[in-house]
Amino acid sequence: MPDISELSEKHFSRYGEFLVSFELSKYGWNIYNPVYDEYIDFIIHKFICKDCGKLWNQTPALVCKNCGKDFSKSLKKDIIAKKICRDCGHEMIGNKILCSNCKSRELLNKPTCDDCDGEIEMIKYTCECGSSNYETKFRTIQVKSSRIEIDKKTGKNKNTYAVDMKPRDLIKGKHYFIWCLIDTKDMPHFLVMSVKDFEETMGNSLKGISFFKDQDRQHFSASNFGKWGKFLDKFEKLD
Ligand SMILES: [Zn+2]
Ligand SMILES: [Zn+2]
Ligand SMILES: [Zn+2]
Repeated sequence: MPDISELSEKHFSRYGEFLVSFELSKYGWNIYNPVYDEYIDFIIHKFICKDCGKLWNQTPALVCKNCGKDFSKSLKKDIIAKKICRDCGHEMIGNKILCSNCKSRELLNKPTCDDCDGEIEMIKYTCECGSSNYETKFRTIQVKSSRIEIDKKTGKNKNTYAVDMKPRDLIKGKHYFIWCLIDTKDMPHFLVMSVKDFEETMGNSLKGISFFKDQDRQHFSASNFGKWGKFLDKFEKLD
């Protein structure tokens, strides 16, 4: 991979989006790209328990009725494919079509536990808290990425980041900004804020002429992120 400082603006911006999507996935979000939208980079989505807010698992569990062994995760190969003849009650293992005892074709499937011979059933996920209600959350995200600014004349590291913000970025609804700031060691830092957070932090400069004219550029310290520092890693704001 080339040095981050050598990436073109376009590639750097894609790289920032990739880092943000990877980070979001750690918080349980599923991430989608709008096919065409200038201001929304991601639509993110997750299922959570309606009662306690924990992540919800949409896949049903495969559990032994008798001993409770859970085959859902990786043990599916251990499930014994048992067939039982409806006519004579004979039990067989494997992919049989005919009863090996009475030649009947009336065979029942019985997925069977390899530990206790109990029957395995598919059960709907319920939360650890006992709830069987879940809800779906959707958020929209705009990513802005910045490298450390370099003084064009002297070539010196200015120890600041810069993000361009425009009135048309201020989309209403469950919309958030994630600023991906990459330091000189190529380490990303994420500032996560809602549109409202952004508006409040901007205060009066939101009404400034430069913002109205699309010429606003937020420059801030790369050490403590200035007034934006309070949004560092605030991924819980998305919840
Ligand atoms: Zn719960
Ligand atoms: Zn069992
Ligand atoms: Zn039979």
